Amino acid sequence: MQQDVATAMKTSLEQSVIQALRSVLGDGSCVLHEPRFQGNEQAYVQECITSTFVSSVGRYVDRFEQELAAFTGARRAVAVVNGTAALQVALQLAGVQAGDEVIVPTLTFVATANAVHYLGATPHFVDSAEDTLGMDPAALKDWLKHVAEPTAAGSRNRHTGCPIRAIVPMHTFGHPCDLEGLLTIAHDYRLALVEDAAESLGSYYQGQHTGAFGELGALSFNGNKVITTGGGGAILTNDERLADHAKHLTTTAKQPHRWDYVHDEIGYNFRMPNLNAALGCAQFEQLPSFLASKRRLAERYAEAFRGVESVRLMREPKDCRSNYWLQTLLLDEAVADQRDAVLTATNDAGLMTRPAWGLLHQLPPYQQCPRAPLSVAESLARRLINIPSSAGLA
Ligand SMILES: *Cc1c(COP(=O)(O)O)cnc(C)c1O
Repeated sequence: MQQDVATAMKTSLEQSVIQALRSVLGDGSCVLHEPRFQGNEQAYVQECITSTFVSSVGRYVDRFEQELAAFTGARRAVAVVNGTAALQVALQLAGVQAGDEVIVPTLTFVATANAVHYLGATPHFVDSAEDTLGMDPAALKDWLKHVAEPTAAGSRNRHTGCPIRAIVPMHTFGHPCDLEGLLTIAHDYRLALVEDAAESLGSYYQGQHTGAFGELGALSFNGNKVITTGGGGAILTNDERLADHAKHLTTTAKQPHRWDYVHDEIGYNFRMPNLNAALGCAQFEQLPSFLASKRRLAERYAEAFRGVESVRLMREPKDCRSNYWLQTLLLDEAVADQRDAVLTATNDAGLMTRPAWGLLHQLPPYQQCPRAPLSVAESLARRLINIPSSAGLA
């Protein structure tokens, strides 16, 4: 009897989480992230149709590229079909070749590793830091001391003999990783740095927008990102020569001519269609309000979860400004075994939540790849929960 009362009085973790979510989101159900089309989307897309410029020529592509460059402070932006293609071409232009290894966090979306694989290179997985959820420079430095040796051209893996060509930090859920530490390592080991900034449009590291700290970076405008073009992506760079080459490569490497088809290297048909760029221009006009809304939502979640034991809301790292793309709860290690109960209860209640991605080194195609000790990422993957994050919820 006494025990029953004690059990009934102790609120379970999943009930506390639902209560906190409801205090912010109210009654009813909520998806994880949905796009919002309340601006000029209809008008701009309609204009493409009316003018017949729906495909690879049209003024919205140029305008979208110019706006992205101005907003991010990158010298140039090249719009492409999706973020994965942006990353693939960025890596190719950074010098990644078949047979190379590329340093990638294991805690990321599969596209980060796929882009490496498409070039015939191999992802080499490294650990993440608890305070940023991104690549951990301290752990990477220790690992490279052990695994890398200098060569005439840069570094190689002393165990596999393969060149280590580049490092691809990713800004997890919009929280910038420790770029300063990673840039130092890239410099010391002569590795190219290419940012996977797919999730971090509107996120800043030490006052500077993410995505162009290294040679090149990649953005995504998939349907679930901060702004969407339906499907789309962009390559960012401060190097005019690389930008021109990116544009050339992603438009079938055709030399400009009034009628001749001369392609001077093997390019890709990766150009963003005007229809998608039109959507992007309309979304871009609303980006400041989306970012403000997401920041408000983070404040309200932080307040709501302040009293919930063993759970903490992920906040922007030191010296960073996050876009708060996906709001994230981090369970204490002691209650990590209750993560699935929280996921079940919240989804049953109509509040969509999700764990982080499965770690890439555990996926069937990537199990044999070289990797560093990954204990922090393994712990984070057991404890992370993404909660409803759409702009407009706050
Ligand atoms: C979304 C995403 C991508 C790929 O973007 P697509 O536009 O879907 O191809 C790459 N990396 C990360 C980390 C992402 O979240």
